[in-house]
Amino acid sequence: MSQTHHLQGFVLFRENKGENDLIISFYSRQSGKIQILVRGGRKINSKLNPILAEPFSLLDLVVVQGKIYHLIGGEKRQRFPQILSQPEKLITLNFLFGQINKIIKPEPDKKIFSLLVKFLIIINQAKKENSLLLINAFLIKFLSFLGYCPEIKKCLICGKLPLEENLLFNFNKGGIVCLKHTSLENLSEANLKIKQKDLKILQKLLYQDFNSLLKQSFFQKDLKRAELIIKKFFIWHLGT
Ligand SMILES: [Zn+2]
Repeated sequence: MSQTHHLQGFVLFRENKGENDLIISFYSRQSGKIQILVRGGRKINSKLNPILAEPFSLLDLVVVQGKIYHLIGGEKRQRFPQILSQPEKLITLNFLFGQINKIIKPEPDKKIFSLLVKFLIIINQAKKENSLLLINAFLIKFLSFLGYCPEIKKCLICGKLPLEENLLFNFNKGGIVCLKHTSLENLSEANLKIKQKDLKILQKLLYQDFNSLLKQSFFQKDLKRAELIIKKFFIWHLGT
């Protein structure tokens, strides 16, 4: 017997199935990540088309659960139209959602769901020049909520606050270590040399909320450094 469910969430990824159908990967507040078949979802006159027409919208879907989930109806609960009108944001978020789809755990997670909603609200309204700040803050928070929180307060070897100007971010250990523990000729690609300034920015991105971050000014080149570390950490742990 099939059962009807009401699910709220986001389409993370979509792929074609057969000639007319779609399969969407949907991250829902209630059931986590699930696959939903949208019959006729690629037909222009499909009644289900308008529900899915705008990427990144927060949706209320009605699905029937048989062997797999089928979409039977729904509506947009919240739209983020300014993301769609700015090509740079659109491209970046498209890529980001693809990555999230690969690494997010299937189980529902209130903290991750709420982080996604907050991030979309704020990136939708934000000026273009704040995108890099918000995306990096989202990524490092997201990784932490997934269980990959980097240690960026104390050295992972001696446990002390690193006071020297230069230190290492060690991807194998998952955080910072003092330079003195490693001989420089043995530096493997698991290490990246960073400076105190980089560390301070990583700490802000991880521990401060989006609104407080927006009240401060950051140099784009410093955010690019932070992005390099966060992306490398992301790839190192998750192999995406
Ligand atoms: Zn140390």
